[in-house]
Parts: sequence; C-alpha cells; structure tokens
Amino acid sequence: MSKTEQSRDRGKLVIISGPSGVGKSTIVKQLLEQCELPLELSVSATTRPPRSDDRAGVNYHFMTAEEFQSRVANEEFLEYVEVFGHGYWYGTLKEQVSTGLNRGKWIILEIDIVGAAKVLEVHPEALTIFIHPGNLSELQRRLEKRGTETPESMARRLEVAQQELAAASNYQNIITNKTVDQTVTSICQLLLNSRNHPSGDNTECTTN
Ligand code: 5GP
Repeated sequence: MSKTEQSRDRGKLVIISGPSGVGKSTIVKQLLEQCELPLELSVSATTRPPRSDDRAGVNYHFMTAEEFQSRVANEEFLEYVEVFGHGYWYGTLKEQVSTGLNRGKWIILEIDIVGAAKVLEVHPEALTIFIHPGNLSELQRRLEKRGTETPESMARRLEVAQQELAAASNYQNIITNKTVDQTVTSICQLLLNSRNHPSGDNTECTTN
C-alpha cells in the first residue's frame, strides 16, 4: 500500500479557526451536512456554561472546573486553553481525535489559534483553515446580532479577535466569510482538492 493510500485510510485532521462570532459553528454544521467526505466534528470539552441553544455532547462536553482539571491531570487533552482569560477552559480530548482518525474520518477541530498551534506541534500534517470576518466592525455587528454576550464579554471577544486576525497568515488557507453558502462550498472544495495531495502538501489558497 502506498503512503498516500495509508494516509487516506487513516483519516485527516482539519483545524478551523477564526474569531468568535465569525460564524464557525454554522459553517462547520453545514459543512458536515453537505460535503461528501467522511467528516466528523471533534466535540470539545469546556467549563463555560451552556447557552440556551447549546446541546450537551453535540456542541460541547460541558464539565465542571474540577472534572476538567482531573482530565488535564490524566493527560486526556491533546490541547487545552483558557480562551478568553476569564476562567473558562476549552480543550480537545485526545480520544475524540484518535478514535475518529483510526476509523478513517476527517476530524474537524474548531479551536482557537493558541490551541491550533499546540495541535500542530503533535500533528504538523494537519490542514489549517482560518475563517476571516472581513473586518472587525462586521464581527462586532454579528456578535451584537447573536445577542449572547454581556458588554464585558463582547469587549473581551473583540480584543481577542484582533489577536486572532493577526495570526491568520499562519494558516495554510484563509477564507473570508461573505456568505455561509459560499464559505462552505470553498472549504469543501479545498478539502476535496487536498485528498489528491500527500499530507502537509497543501497549496496556499485565499478565497475572497
Ligand atoms: P464559544 O464560547 O463561543 O463556544 O467558543 C469560544 C472560542 O473557543 C471559539 O473561538 C472556539 O474556536 C474556541 N474553542 C472551542 N473549543 C475549543 C477547544 O477545544 N480548544 C481551543 N483551544 N479552543 C476552543
């Protein structure tokens, strides 16, 4: 069996980042429904409280700080980060990733830029995609429309967003989210193209 066939059988790791409010969750949900690849979302663990539309085990594995800490101590995380510096932790469970990859799935990690850098240390072959809002005021408008954040949380999210946008150039692919449909189509196409390249051999592609 060739190296390419082996890596196809083993599945692929896809990291999707982008600032809070850019529409990652909606895009990823639609991508999973529409793209004809064996995609699977890695469900992260978090200590942040669930929002009204969050579903436990689907959007996140919600857990107490104690449970999260005990999993950290057991080395169950591939990466974990206190994303907004407000005491809420987010992390990727190793088991979510390895089980899927071994079953030949393309595992999507929807994680922040710090977590992404940590994952790349272990999985340098991962495909990386950054979803860009276009500009910060567009992001603010989307966050306001979502209506889930307090003024303090909104300010913090926009501050972190600036840092995230500055890191976009570290990603192999940057896609500006003009409409969800366009973005989903672009990401799916990019993933389909990457099937024909050996791992880590992705071409730079910026979709506007
Ligand atoms: P939210 O609270 O809006 O669901 O997510 C906040 C941010 O946390 C998002 O930008 C998301 O990408 C990031 N995030 C979600 N899960 C993880 C994870 O497992 N690890 C890391 N590093 N970031 C995550």
